[in-house]
Amino acid sequence: AKAAGRNTLCFFDPGMQEAVSARSAMEADMRQALQHGQFRLLYQPVVNGQGRMLGVEALVRWNHPQRGNISPAEFIPLAEKTGLILPLGRWVLQTACRQLVSWASDPLMAHLTVAVNVSAREFRDPGFVEAVLAVLEATGARPTQLKLELTESLLLNDVEDIIAKMTRLQMRGVGFSLDDFGTGYSSLSYLKRLPLDQLKIDQSFVRDVLTDPNDATIARTIIALASSLGLSVVAEGVETVGQRAFLLRNGCEAFQGYLFSRPVAAVALPGLVASPLG
Ligand code: C2E
Ligand code: CA
Ligand code: CA
Ligand code: CA
Repeated sequence: AKAAGRNTLCFFDPGMQEAVSARSAMEADMRQALQHGQFRLLYQPVVNGQGRMLGVEALVRWNHPQRGNISPAEFIPLAEKTGLILPLGRWVLQTACRQLVSWASDPLMAHLTVAVNVSAREFRDPGFVEAVLAVLEATGARPTQLKLELTESLLLNDVEDIIAKMTRLQMRGVGFSLDDFGTGYSSLSYLKRLPLDQLKIDQSFVRDVLTDPNDATIARTIIALASSLGLSVVAEGVETVGQRAFLLRNGCEAFQGYLFSRPVAAVALPGLVASPLG
């Protein structure tokens, strides 16, 4: 029992102890999971204003033998802390690139781009550029069909180095998207120097775009900013026709969200690509 009185330092917190051991159990499980193929990718369509599928975003899932499906919101942060994001990220990239190659021979699917989320920790790894080029080489995927989604947290330090790495990949044709745009620290002066192709409007602004005038203003401003920088823009988390109509009216040309499709297994995509979504 804790006797935490005046001037007493309490070193042992049972709650914290539990959290720490749960975390290391999950870390051990994650190493196993990589070896035993418990991760899989789902793909969520990105569509244009007519509902035609332009590409997909790869989203990782962990099917844990005891705990069932664990959300990436839960295990990605831990993977980042432990460094497991490096092998996991490599697996995601490789799987997504193999998927691109398997679609290349299907006239319905061959035009699709695949977006892969890359965490700051992965991108900062000194071997990152070589690793991506190696995966492209090994799989034979076309670099122009691969988009890497980065977040603003990457820009907290060493921006010169980030730009240099992005440029090396961009020269090979790889595209870059700035994910969750507007939620993080972001300097507008960096924005114009980064070799980006696209901004993604975070779903937190899309959710209340019809009812919250501030969110409406932010969404419009991001669309205008993207346009003036020559970038494309994707709205995330679009769930209603009203949200889409507002965004479309304000110049947004690409959309992602449950209105069109939830993230689905690769086998389900050919069934979705043939007719307009939403
Ligand atoms: P994100 O990159 O912002 O991905 C979008 C998230 O929004 C996904 O959650 C997606 O399922 C969800 N979503 C899509 N449409 C809607 C909608 O209309 N409404 C709502 N409420 N949600 C929608 P998910 O798959 O759980 O992924 C959560 C986050 O985990 C991702 O956020 C991303 O930051 C991270 N993540 C997922 N896969 C990977 C990966 O392979 N590598 C890395 N580094 N991070 C990943
Ligand atoms: Ca993303
Ligand atoms: Ca996002
Ligand atoms: Ca997010």
